[in-house]
Amino acid sequence: MLLTVELGERSYPILIEPGCMNRKDQWSERVPHAEVVIVTNETIAPLYLDSLKRSLERSGRRLLSLTLPDGESYKSAETLGRIYDFLLEHSISRKAVLIALGGGVIGDLTGYAAATFQRGIDFIQVPTTLLSQVDSSVGGKTGINHPLGKNMIGAFKQPKSVVIDPAVLSTLPDRELSAGLAEVIKYGLIHDADFFEWLETNIDALLAKDADALVQAIARSCRLKADIVAADETEQGIRAILNLGHTFGHAIEAELGYGLWLHGEAVAAGMVMASDLSQRQGWIDGEVTERARNLLSAARLPVAPPPQMTPDRFMNHMARDKKVESGQLRLVLLEALGRATVTSTFDPARLEACLSAFCT
Ligand code: NAD
Ligand code: MG
Repeated sequence: MLLTVELGERSYPILIEPGCMNRKDQWSERVPHAEVVIVTNETIAPLYLDSLKRSLERSGRRLLSLTLPDGESYKSAETLGRIYDFLLEHSISRKAVLIALGGGVIGDLTGYAAATFQRGIDFIQVPTTLLSQVDSSVGGKTGINHPLGKNMIGAFKQPKSVVIDPAVLSTLPDRELSAGLAEVIKYGLIHDADFFEWLETNIDALLAKDADALVQAIARSCRLKADIVAADETEQGIRAILNLGHTFGHAIEAELGYGLWLHGEAVAAGMVMASDLSQRQGWIDGEVTERARNLLSAARLPVAPPPQMTPDRFMNHMARDKKVESGQLRLVLLEALGRATVTSTFDPARLEACLSAFCT
């Protein structure tokens, strides 16, 4: 399956096909570059690096790889520096392409390195987690964390293409698969009620890593994200609906310390909270919240915050978000199943009631 992210001169294809990572012909049309640098991590390298290299080999081409340590804590300025060092030590030119082989951490790091090395070189995303296949590899947000905040340093840099091989999900731990499904379910909630319904029917097939179901879910998610990004590349407006559940979720992640709950898990609980608040506003029926809760549970995701969370703790973190958003707390809320809005016109008393209801 081939999709396109429509961004004028910077448009790019997304290929979704089991086994495509190892198809030489697919790569030869995609990568004319004489210098190729694959960036990956210690977990993914033993699984997929050799076969990807073999598929990219061609006479006269320089093909190098850099294997970084695994973990969110390495999405840092220090690791970025290691990428620059490697590129400079190997005299990599502006004509090279970087290939990010890994999850969102490798994708964000490599994309940012590509955005900044010699003022910008080409890069290709080869996402290997469900989350990166449906979310982070599409849309051009790249960057690293700062000790004072996640994703605080970065750039918009669109890849030249995204190559998604759902077969690599065979080695992905179940918990990571579920975390990716949280973002898949999010697309249904914010933009596509039919897709939500399809997910209700196919959730077990997805959890069993059924190849057809995965291709369909990934393709539909990428299509929705691509359309939203095409409408609003740098998040001046509609792109923000992709953050459904994220304000509540970030509060959970920040309070627990990043890493204890996976991002998708925190977002899952956050989406139920956002749906509950939308319901308190009178914008949606209780049935929508119930269906969201049921589908997320079926995907083996949490549907309420952990016991450490109190309304005050939520508000502290959300106030910090508010400062970043220049004074107004804006939330993504639902107006219907399949329709979201970014708004600051919710009733603060209802937000309090929502937080109290979830923190018991
Ligand atoms: P990750 O990159 O940390 O990968 C999760 C774990 O799975 C890692 O240990 C990784 O090594 C392992 N792994 C990856 N592929 C595997 C495979 N096929 N088989 C076995 N193990 C595999 O986490 P993630 O969830 O992919 O990404 C999270 C990151 O993405 C965060 O830093 C987040 O900020 C970022 N993100 C960025 C965007 C964006 O638009 N740029 C969007 C969402 C998230
Ligand atoms: Mg997210």
